[in-house]
Amino acid sequence: MFKQDLHIHTTYSTNDGAVVPEQTIALVAAVKHARIVGISDHFENLANGQFQGYSNEVRKAGLKLGLEIDGHAWANEAACYDVDYFIYHCRDQEDDYRALENLLAANRPVIIAHPNALGTDLNRVPTECLIEINNRYIWRSDWETFYRPFKKKFRFVLGSDAHQPNWLSLTVALYAASRLGVEEYLLF
Ligand SMILES: [Zn+2]
Ligand SMILES: [Zn+2]
Repeated sequence: MFKQDLHIHTTYSTNDGAVVPEQTIALVAAVKHARIVGISDHFENLANGQFQGYSNEVRKAGLKLGLEIDGHAWANEAACYDVDYFIYHCRDQEDDYRALENLLAANRPVIIAHPNALGTDLNRVPTECLIEINNRYIWRSDWETFYRPFKKKFRFVLGSDAHQPNWLSLTVALYAASRLGVEEYLLF
């Protein structure tokens, strides 16, 4: 069993073509591939009246409640929602770094999603953020060069970014973390 996975999508991510109908909250809870499991569906699919049902279902399943937020356009609104943590798309642009400050002010953990896939400049990210090593994307880049300069600056979390039941795994992220010599930080 893995220790923690807080980056998981379900059928609530309705605009995401990679999600399959079988990827329900109930199935993720039943598989329970990690000791700490959190659901983090796309906020833009929840902001329009879907959030309450999502929140109820995640809580009822006994899982942590998160949101994945797509940059500055959604950050201020998302910061007002009652969740356990945020996962944030921070592209290399002024507006995204600025909105990150507002998100941090909401006093919940903020995980910077797959920064190697979005070109996030980790020099511009505050140290209280957690940096994700994302099982879906980590291998698609020169991750050693990208992450190694920051291994002392940040705490790191591993995330599957699962959109399908068989993606509920952290094997490549664990490999990268061990090669980098970074310890996974447990949030809950
Ligand atoms: Zn993402
Ligand atoms: Zn995601």
